[in-house]
Amino acid sequence: MSTVVTDRTVLITGASKGIGRGIARVLGQHGARVAVVSRSIAGSEAVAEEIREAGGTALPLAADVSDLASMHDAAKATQQAFGGIDVLCANAGVFPSADLGEITEQEWDTVMNTNLKGTLFSVQACLPALRASEAPRIVLTSSITGPITGYPGWAHYGASKAGQLGFLRTAAIELARDGITVNAVLPGNILTEGLEGLGEDYLRKMASTIPMQRLGTVEDIAHGVLYFASPQAAYVTGQTLVIDGGQVLPE
Ligand code: NAP
Repeated sequence: MSTVVTDRTVLITGASKGIGRGIARVLGQHGARVAVVSRSIAGSEAVAEEIREAGGTALPLAADVSDLASMHDAAKATQQAFGGIDVLCANAGVFPSADLGEITEQEWDTVMNTNLKGTLFSVQACLPALRASEAPRIVLTSSITGPITGYPGWAHYGASKAGQLGFLRTAAIELARDGITVNAVLPGNILTEGLEGLGEDYLRKMASTIPMQRLGTVEDIAHGVLYFASPQAAYVTGQTLVIDGGQVLPE
């Protein structure tokens, strides 16, 4: 079965690095027009250039998901450049670590404003364009941390990622009448630039706890997103796909 996003416009938040960059590159390779969104125009431009060099079409944008006006501007710029938005990948997220006794109100607000409010604002900004699409899709990047597992230092992060799934289930019901599907990928430990900085020893130790004995790649996540974005997933909504090499399975 082919999963095709050719000639569809995808807006991806948090696309200048890590998983978002992987989603942008893979969907670009599969023929989507990609709006690359992050707070840094230089970061977005670098990924847009990678997509263009590979023969794809991309638009770099600077926007902050925790600022609704900024997300409206990004959605408007995407519609002006590409004529609409068919798929929103609400992927931007932050994961600062702090013991729960030490989490400041400001740290809590930053995590919630980016991961949870940012999900709402990304959806709200793209909603008019999605409603006009023939096959509209929303794909959230949640996590195994929060919905399924816990990890010391990430009480605020876990709460935000579990919160995304509460949002998803009602959003899927409300938006079904518009034909918009809302699904989420739940990555395990994915090898991103940030993680690589933790060193070989740490990465080897992490990999040894995963049944498949390796960390995930950003492409592993992107292919899950590609499925939810595809025509073949038209009747799938409100669902989650864990992509973790079996990490959550052992007792
Ligand atoms: P990353 O490498 O740190 O990239 C985060 C991206 O989000 C960057 O492009 C960043 O660009 C952007 N961003 C951050 N705050 C933003 C804001 N307020 N507005 C717009 N863009 C913003 O992170 P990652 O590891 O790829 O994680 C991506 C998503 O996957 C997150 O939702 C994370 O929770 C989830 N996840 C990751 C893993 C993992 O192992 N890596 C596991 C489970 C879930 P700027 O800073 O320039 O804005």
